[in-house]
Amino acid sequence: MRYSNRMMSLQETLYPALISRVEPDSPASQAGVQAGDSLVRVNNQPIPDILAYRRELEVGDVTLEVQRTDGSSLHFEVSWEDPGLEFSEVLFDGIKICANKCEFCYVHQMPKGFRKSLYVMDDDYRLSFLYGSFVTLTNLSENDFNRILSENLSPLYVSVHSTDQALRADMMKWWRLKVKDPESTKIQETLKRLEPIDLYTQLVLLPNRNDGVHLEESLTYLSSLPNVLSVACVPLGLTDHRRNLPELRPFRPEEARDVLRIAHAWQKKMLEERGTRFIFPSDEFYILAGEPLPPEEAYEGYPMLENGVGMVRDFLSGDLPPLPKAVPGTKVILGTGKLFAPILDLALEPLRAVRGLHLEVRALENKTFGTVTTVSGLLTGRCFVENIAPAEADLLLVSPSTLRYGTELMLDDVSLTDLRQKLKMDVRSGGKNLGELARVILENAQSSLPQFGYSAHAVKEHRGKTV
Ligand code: SF4
Repeated sequence: MRYSNRMMSLQETLYPALISRVEPDSPASQAGVQAGDSLVRVNNQPIPDILAYRRELEVGDVTLEVQRTDGSSLHFEVSWEDPGLEFSEVLFDGIKICANKCEFCYVHQMPKGFRKSLYVMDDDYRLSFLYGSFVTLTNLSENDFNRILSENLSPLYVSVHSTDQALRADMMKWWRLKVKDPESTKIQETLKRLEPIDLYTQLVLLPNRNDGVHLEESLTYLSSLPNVLSVACVPLGLTDHRRNLPELRPFRPEEARDVLRIAHAWQKKMLEERGTRFIFPSDEFYILAGEPLPPEEAYEGYPMLENGVGMVRDFLSGDLPPLPKAVPGTKVILGTGKLFAPILDLALEPLRAVRGLHLEVRALENKTFGTVTTVSGLLTGRCFVENIAPAEADLLLVSPSTLRYGTELMLDDVSLTDLRQKLKMDVRSGGKNLGELARVILENAQSSLPQFGYSAHAVKEHRGKTV
């Protein structure tokens, strides 16, 4: 390993990658690199992201250029060994923003006042490869396409919505000026061009728009491509904050049943032809339709869990611990979204045999996003404070899906500690499955931060921030 120092002008700094940690005794540490410095070049080239960084390291004999916090620069070399750097973000050149204005976009329906990161309209194929974010691909440049193919960034997760070009364009309304390559908006051509890349796809369904015959057409096309591994169908999500946005409505039960009827027929056909069910409707469709959830094996290992496909079945799959006959008198409120509340209520029935344990599942009205929003993952601290009276119970359990990844903060930055103070009761995060939830209820002694079960929005927000 060799290293040297020299002054570097600011103009030379491109995509500085902030170093969050330096492994002790590593080449970087021995060269004098410290947390807070920035990696600016590798082999004299700017490095746009962690993927490019790793690729250079795989080739071997690498020169790294680091900008120190005092403005000086430092070079060191490694052969094949890990330099020992960790970065605060995985995308050094910034996140790629979407080129669309989807009618059903959740970001457009967010009330004001949340932290900035929740308004970022990311559509970055690198995050799709690294973390499974769904991307539309309409913002790809020719270079991006070439990079995906040459670096084999597989699998990717693609929001298709419809394989009918005109219908997709009508639903997504991309901005022509933001589209770098008009070819990238042609969904059928794009999917074909990505033939060597495995694709998990999703269709966000709007009633009377891309369901019914259009859904059949999309499934026919997607199932003809061997690299499309599966299709998740999720209903549009709505809030009460749709001023100046096109009028949309939720699925009615009979419409949800139609979606399931089509999906089940395709599952049968695809099981015979491909050995996989291929299409997976989200839990919300089953709940809206009032139909029983499929058994665990029907989810084929839950590859789309984050997309709300199988979350409820996965939750119910945890075994209950041995139940005591009695506990000291305790009132527990389980605060959850209206959609999930009846299922949770039924699942907790065995615990009601425990004498002294008074359980109440409370379906919370969403005071932030509005009554039309019924999922647990979008409950905020305000929803708990305005739906539960102070000292009403001994313990309040909140769904882990309401918490920001790795923290005890809700979407509106209200913490569990804030809730404890405001509601004058113990407040804890429940478990990611029924068994864990039952243990939390019975032990009622857990005091550390939650370790499991974060929501899709929380995971998404965490993406791109750490290596
Ligand atoms: S691609 Fe995603 S972020 Fe962009 S407008 Fe559509 S839904 Fe919103």
